[in-house]
Amino acid sequence: MYNWLQSRAGEMPDKPAVIFEGTEVTFSELYKTAVEMKGRLESLDRPRIALFIGNTLDAVYAIHAAMLANIEIVMINTRLTGREIAAQLDDIGVDTIVATEPVDLEGYRVYKWEEIQNMASGSRESRNASGSDVLSIMFTSGTTGRAKAVTQTYDNHYASAMGCERRFGYTRDSIWMNINPIYHISGFSVLLRSVIRGCTMVLIEKFEEEKIWKTIAEYGVTHTSMVPIMLKRLMKYEMAEHRLEGILLGGAGVTKDILDNALSMGLPVYNSFGMTETCSQIVSIAPDDPKILDGTVGKPLDNIDIVVDSSNDGELLVRGGPITGGYLNAEMEVSDGYFRTGDMGHIDEEGYLYILDRRKDLIISGGENVYPKEIEDVINTHPGVVNAAVVKRKDQEWGEVPILLVELANGRRLEDEEIMAHLKRHLARYKLPKEIHRVGNIIMTSTGKVSRARNQQIYNIKRSSNR
Ligand code: ATP
Ligand code: MG
Repeated sequence: MYNWLQSRAGEMPDKPAVIFEGTEVTFSELYKTAVEMKGRLESLDRPRIALFIGNTLDAVYAIHAAMLANIEIVMINTRLTGREIAAQLDDIGVDTIVATEPVDLEGYRVYKWEEIQNMASGSRESRNASGSDVLSIMFTSGTTGRAKAVTQTYDNHYASAMGCERRFGYTRDSIWMNINPIYHISGFSVLLRSVIRGCTMVLIEKFEEEKIWKTIAEYGVTHTSMVPIMLKRLMKYEMAEHRLEGILLGGAGVTKDILDNALSMGLPVYNSFGMTETCSQIVSIAPDDPKILDGTVGKPLDNIDIVVDSSNDGELLVRGGPITGGYLNAEMEVSDGYFRTGDMGHIDEEGYLYILDRRKDLIISGGENVYPKEIEDVINTHPGVVNAAVVKRKDQEWGEVPILLVELANGRRLEDEEIMAHLKRHLARYKLPKEIHRVGNIIMTSTGKVSRARNQQIYNIKRSSNR
């Protein structure tokens, strides 16, 4: 069960497993190379290694080789600086890195992929993985502060693939395009799903927006997954004829206008909700669902149980096969077997989930709950606004109050009055920001989310220097 690649290589040896930049690699070829590389990775004599990989064929080989050797892989975000990477590695005590991309790190055992290719097979004894073994370790985006190292087992990934397959309706004849970074759960999960079901995966190294439609047409891509901002950028280009059946949107909230646009172009967009801790999406909604434009992320997948903890600001608690067993560098918050997500939401009478915001970011002003995301979503609909972050400060009268940081479109001037007028049209008075600041740019995380923690820091610094 856990040798997915070996099984597929036996069942469908000549079918393309991966297509990368025009090169097709069949399941049997992929398996053969992975077996060769497994022995070499074993010679490193480490139960756990870090992978510094891009979206390339070598990265796919490295992942499968590590799985065959039952070596745990720590996925490193290639956009991090050397200092940030070192901090993560030290945080979980990893000293060995296998890199398919150039990496600038001192004080660690860094092996280039070519070096590994030239090594002799080692003798580290490995046993086949079992479901409860850790397959991967992935850091959260660090949106709320220090990134947590999430352990993801073979069973977690398998359950995630099964839930997704049931909802998303792909089959072994489907063609997945993988455009998300595979060091991140969004891309990693597409890689695993494809091999678990036996789909061909078209792997994209870089998001070059002007080329994507052509690739989708050329390979007959049926399924893909992306963050909302990518879809927004793609929709500026003329679509080629395509066979798309599903585009999964996730990682961050999607605005109604992106969804609306996509649907009116006939694109089969699914909205979804998930976390690194849940091994990708656990809730989703299909394009033909009558509530697709109602701001909901849909209903839980078949193997997921979600409850709203109304005595704790509506925090979402989740249970099910894909959910992590814990972090390596932090305590996981659990109640009665449910993982406490830190996100707040509500579920309507028909079972649809709506995400409000993170509990950490909740602003309680005069006893009322104010969700920063709601204010950001409203101001982002103003044509003069490029991006916004809502942070908070303490206030003698109200306890806490919201503060708006706003990034304006190039050359655009917007008076506070106009911003406030726009907000007032859509929001109750207690939700209105008490200060407005124009900033050069809103700090985002690598997964495309407003980093409230870092924008709050910027505000705090601004504020103390003004005093
Ligand atoms: P950290 O846990 O380090 O603060 P992070 O939570 O941003 O970072 P990820 O695991 O990449 O790290 O992201 C998961 C989070 O993304 C969810 O907990 C949720 O807050 C947000 N998110 C994901 N999908 C959606 C969505 N559809 N709508 C709103 N928020 C979403
Ligand atoms: Mg998180």
